[in-house]
Amino acid sequence: MTDFNTMMESHPPAVRDAVRRGLGMSVSQARLWLGCALAGKYQYIDRVERPEPRRIMVMGSLFDYLCNTMRQDKGFCDIATGLDTEDINTVLGRYDIYADHINYDADQLQVPVYRDCDPITFYGFADRDKDGTHELLIDHKFSLKPWPNNKPKKHAVYQAQSYLWAATAMWGAVPRFEYHVLNAETPDIQIIPYKPRQSSIDAVPTWLLKAYEIKRGGVYPAAENSYRCDWCDYKGICPKVKEETETQTKLQAALKEAADFDAAFDM
Ligand code: SF4
Repeated sequence: MTDFNTMMESHPPAVRDAVRRGLGMSVSQARLWLGCALAGKYQYIDRVERPEPRRIMVMGSLFDYLCNTMRQDKGFCDIATGLDTEDINTVLGRYDIYADHINYDADQLQVPVYRDCDPITFYGFADRDKDGTHELLIDHKFSLKPWPNNKPKKHAVYQAQSYLWAATAMWGAVPRFEYHVLNAETPDIQIIPYKPRQSSIDAVPTWLLKAYEIKRGGVYPAAENSYRCDWCDYKGICPKVKEETETQTKLQAALKEAADFDAAFDM
């Protein structure tokens, strides 16, 4: 993983200034605010320290690092800390396969994309730009298993919509947008072309501004989505999860009491 501040230097001063003033919005920020305002508050307002990332996230970071730097140096070792040798070898093996498939020589890596969305500025990084022509915009991903049905997952859909919304304003047409997905289960590379519908691309400013509105709102309700909670970095401190756990514990105690009562009569 390239250091975020170093990556940000490739953005124009106006974008960096917006980010510094709290007026920058990346797709991951927007998704967090829209998905659970409480998690957004923990991350971006309270700056709560995040727990150690899950194994697959670390593997993904390692793969990302290799793709962006093509090096196995100290940065690689720092990211790999905590992974066992088998996981590290899996990532290295997948990267070798990927590097054989891709010609990096003429490509630009970590290309900044941005667009004004008054009063905020959207910003992000496309992982690769083939031959520096803006003709092919790629994001590479690493997951536990292949993506089902060769289709982008939900988070990638948001990313594609917002990146294309920004990239088309910067460069005009972007004829091809692909995900390259490698996974821990098989050595296959999935090449997944994806072009969101124009109506979805046009809708990007609406959800970016909605995310900003939630951020500024001062009221941060918990999400209703238990799948999201399962993956959330803040479930250890979240009152909603605590409350649900207590309810479950009480329910189980009540069921056990009822079963014990029935058993006493069966004797
Ligand atoms: S655990 Fe769920 S409700 Fe709590 S902060 Fe995370 S996503 Fe929101």
